[in-house]
Amino acid sequence: MSEEKSLNFIEEIVEADLASGKHNSILTRFPPEPNGYLHMGHAKSICLNFGLAKKYGGKTNLRFDDTNPTTEDTEYVDSIKEDVQWLGFEWANELYASDYFEQLYQFAQALVKKGLAYVDESTSEEIATQKGTPTQPGVANIYRDRPIQENVRLFEAMRAGAYPDGSKVLRAKIDLTSPNMLLRDPIIYRIKHAHHHRTGNAWCIYPMYDFAHGQSDSIENITHSICTLEFVSHRPVYDWFIEQLGIFPSHQYEFARLNMSYTVMSKRKLLQLVNEQIVTGWDDPRMPTISAMRRRGFTPHSIREFCDKIGIAKRDNLIDFSLLEFCVREHLNKIALRRMVVFNPIKVIITNFEKEVEMVQSEDNPEDANTTHRQIPFTREIFIEQDDFMEVPSKKYFRLAPGQMVRLKSAYIIKCNDVLKDDNGQITEIHCTYIPESKSGNDTSGIHVKGTLHWVSAAHGIPAEVRLYDRLFKEENVDAAGGDFKDHINPDSLQIVSAVAEPALGNAELSERYQFMRKGYFCLDKDTTETKLVFNRTVTLKDGYAKQNK
Ligand code: ATP
Ligand code: MG
Repeated sequence: MSEEKSLNFIEEIVEADLASGKHNSILTRFPPEPNGYLHMGHAKSICLNFGLAKKYGGKTNLRFDDTNPTTEDTEYVDSIKEDVQWLGFEWANELYASDYFEQLYQFAQALVKKGLAYVDESTSEEIATQKGTPTQPGVANIYRDRPIQENVRLFEAMRAGAYPDGSKVLRAKIDLTSPNMLLRDPIIYRIKHAHHHRTGNAWCIYPMYDFAHGQSDSIENITHSICTLEFVSHRPVYDWFIEQLGIFPSHQYEFARLNMSYTVMSKRKLLQLVNEQIVTGWDDPRMPTISAMRRRGFTPHSIREFCDKIGIAKRDNLIDFSLLEFCVREHLNKIALRRMVVFNPIKVIITNFEKEVEMVQSEDNPEDANTTHRQIPFTREIFIEQDDFMEVPSKKYFRLAPGQMVRLKSAYIIKCNDVLKDDNGQITEIHCTYIPESKSGNDTSGIHVKGTLHWVSAAHGIPAEVRLYDRLFKEENVDAAGGDFKDHINPDSLQIVSAVAEPALGNAELSERYQFMRKGYFCLDKDTTETKLVFNRTVTLKDGYAKQNK
């Protein structure tokens, strides 16, 4: 094989497990809790879990970790499925931890019967105090040594709905003196009379994360259960339950979660931005969610590239958002259709152009050897950008100015002769003449100009709203910046510009990607109506941030 890339530590483990015959094939899972939309951190986890299985001929389950009835919703389930598919992955099975409620209950009863779990009636404060501190061992309470039969009966009654919320819990009897606080008799079931998005009112007791996750892995025969570093201290708990229950020995491996600059990566915080209407929704293009990136025009390919480039680490770090933008730009440069869109237009009259319209031709994508071409109407009245004209030009200004010449992309060289102004001194029209011998592709004029401008025919242009996005937060490391994370919101993260688009964009499609020449990469937004095109800027043409920070 020509591609030499060193293995990451999880790939090393997988290769060793396959080589030793510990596993004949691998099965991973992606286990989102359906309590929000997926973000880039999840994309990382998806690429890792599905990518690993793909590489080693294994499979990946999509498992909804839906053991917490009050925060979960089918809206989130649907969005998660859409996002995983959009990223280009196929799951072997769509599963729900809630489908295992009966099995999990049986597991818990099995522990109770072995004397390894007990019903505790202490308040949560009492339990917390009795647990001790990292430097002080915990102490047993009167419930810890209840007879097994009493525990069996009480746990059954808990399930049957005999008790109110919070009045009792089921705890595993592990070790109140363990240096690992999570092993100090962790709570494994709590009472919650709440409606669940799938099981309805069938249950009023729900398993805790530590009693659901490992067992779900085991039920599915997951070989490599990959999660983020916060769960390192949960691993002994994970292993303890599997060992005591004597079930399939899934193993947990941890990697560093993805954090990115200028944004936050937590569903809880993202939900706050949505609820407080700081953004327009989960798919607001400024959000770090997968649905926002899709709407903004990022491609699945570029997100996968990015996840591959950053690799997997064992230590937390902060990844530069511009690395993702770099990947997006690289891909869009190859696939985007080139189009002309004039922002903040100003009118130019080409006084010696007598024809009503002349069609000029331009390449759809010069990066593509088999590029198609399109015809663009050139007329006497066109628009250029206000920024492309200066009445009193500075020294190195090569765009349009009185007496100066520029080329209009794919059309002619024009020379500015005059400007018209309104009563306030604002320029209303720029008067130019064109050089008929200078047509692009057939230029016999012998004139060399330094500037090339994009333009749109005034008669044929289509009005468009263009949304330019900037970082959602001002701080590079939002979580480390202190205070409320919302204090660091960038008030100028959205700029709306009115523009005129060349007529080919009248057929713009949501799935298509465009490069607006000299402006950046853009895509059509779903807010587009019959009368107005709306575009999102995906990324700029160049990395402005890298330059600024040097
Ligand atoms: P959040 O804190 O945003 O709610 P979470 O970890 O609680 O995230 P889950 O739905 O429980 O979200 O996560 C599903 C999977 O995605 C888990 O395996 C989790 O480890 C992984 N994951 C979540 N956030 C990140 C991240 N920032 N980087 C890498 N993996 C992540
Ligand atoms: Mg979670």
